[in-house]
Amino acid sequence: MLTKNGEEQRSVQTTEALASDQRKQSSNKGQCSLDFAQDYAPALESTQMVSINSRYDLFINGKQQAPHSKSYFQSINPATGESLAEVAIADEQDVQLAVQSARNAYDKVWSKLSPAKRGRYIYRIARILQERAKEFAVLETLDGGKPIKEARDVDIPLAAAHFFYYAGWADKLEYAYPGKSVRSLGVCGQIIPWNFPLLMAAWKLAPALACGNTCVLKPAETTPLTALLLSEVLQEAELPPGVVNIITGTGETGSHLVEHKGLDKIAFTGSTEVGKAIARGLAPRGTKLSLELGGKSAHIVFKDAAIDQAVEGVINGIYFNQGHVCCAGSRLLLEESIAEPFIEKLKARMQNLRVGNPLDKNTDIGAINSKAQWERIQSLIKIGKQEPGNFFQLDTKLPEKGYFIAPCFFTDQSSSNSLSQVEVFGPVLSIMTFRTPAEAVVKANNTQYGLAAGIWSEKGSKIKDVASRLNAGVIWANTYNKFDPGAPFGGFKESGYGREGGLQGLHPYLEVVH
Ligand code: NAP
Ligand code: MG
Repeated sequence: MLTKNGEEQRSVQTTEALASDQRKQSSNKGQCSLDFAQDYAPALESTQMVSINSRYDLFINGKQQAPHSKSYFQSINPATGESLAEVAIADEQDVQLAVQSARNAYDKVWSKLSPAKRGRYIYRIARILQERAKEFAVLETLDGGKPIKEARDVDIPLAAAHFFYYAGWADKLEYAYPGKSVRSLGVCGQIIPWNFPLLMAAWKLAPALACGNTCVLKPAETTPLTALLLSEVLQEAELPPGVVNIITGTGETGSHLVEHKGLDKIAFTGSTEVGKAIARGLAPRGTKLSLELGGKSAHIVFKDAAIDQAVEGVINGIYFNQGHVCCAGSRLLLEESIAEPFIEKLKARMQNLRVGNPLDKNTDIGAINSKAQWERIQSLIKIGKQEPGNFFQLDTKLPEKGYFIAPCFFTDQSSSNSLSQVEVFGPVLSIMTFRTPAEAVVKANNTQYGLAAGIWSEKGSKIKDVASRLNAGVIWANTYNKFDPGAPFGGFKESGYGREGGLQGLHPYLEVVH
């Protein structure tokens, strides 16, 4: 197949093979009453609206440019292990070009534009994203392995909503800081991870642009394709060249970006380990930095909670998106008297989870994002099994190709178990019990992280009291993983600093002039 510009395209060959795997799965398991979830006929999303080029270059100064490095890497579909496209690796010179292009755009165009005009460009980006939502959703699923229903219902609508929200702020910044004046910072280097690729790009770009900055964005190695599709949207929106530059590559490219002395701000979302290294590197330079890092977030379920609702929230918090969520509710603290029935209900509900082809609209749990992540999760499960406690894993047939892990949990855990401390970033839950609210708070806070928490109780006063004692940036009550562009998100302790979303999300991209 050929694209508009004559480039060769790879057809997406994987869909049929996976569907046939799934049909086999259904017929093998049809007789067992607990396996009824496997009896759904596959309902595959079409991949026809997505054109994947065989090769992608860097997006610098408003156009695609071959990398100085002349090197490319493969982005694979983790549901099949097959390559989707080859993608440019930006080296030091490419990073220099991208930063220079952002600097020129800042000095000559973007900083001189009226805030209302800046807002209009951002609105345009939001509208085009909405129009092309299905294309983005399918590409996100192909490149990252997440279930299509999540890409379709969460990632892409929230990304568009984020651009809409910050477009609205562009000409109202003076109202965000009454009595003070603010100014943009200049050029921002922004590095994002693979779990919510387009959404993380939106979280970074939308507030930066609204505040009058220009950007160099570095997507993750395993999921660069929706950021590259976003470059088409930026062109369609006629965003002035250089205002947003997108450079792909490995961790080394990210490292060149953070080491570039021409940046006024660095925003990083990713692992705590890399975040710490970046903070150390930037300390002597004083470049403004915000970090959104890892988490080991806890659900606290009291005996007076609506139990079925809490089970659903726990499932949603750890198993959807394969546990690839920084704020995943990866620890479950149950009030002792309900622990046994709760765990039985959890097991029963897990029987209905469908693990498989992410393009199937029925799939709840798709593919693990990469072979490396699959190996890391498996090795952590192995460690968990060697430590005290019991293990349960959903018994379901996984697709033969690709990287899949059935959802699982460990019970009888204490805070000293590895899986109560280490961020797995996979569908693995660690369960422990508590007797009093005070004990629940101590256990929930017993982690290096402080990103999120969920409290489940019918009593508002109990929820407010416990919430006030938890060290977590986001606390949900009787729900979990709910996002809105108007609500700030970010962590305490080793989960990072700075907030994204809401009025607070403007702050990392502005200087407040007193
Ligand atoms: P990661 O290895 O830290 O990578 C994140 C990004 O940084 C990627 O673009 C990566 O590029 C790049 N990178 C790697 N090494 C770098 C270096 N030395 N200097 C500069 N950039 C570098 O993390 P990940 O494995 O992709 O993501 C998983 C982690 O992100 C988890 O710990 C999760 O909790 C966290 N996360 C946090 C949030 C939040 O909002 N708090 C949101 C999502 C994810 P390559 O991909 O090319 O290696
Ligand atoms: Mg990929």
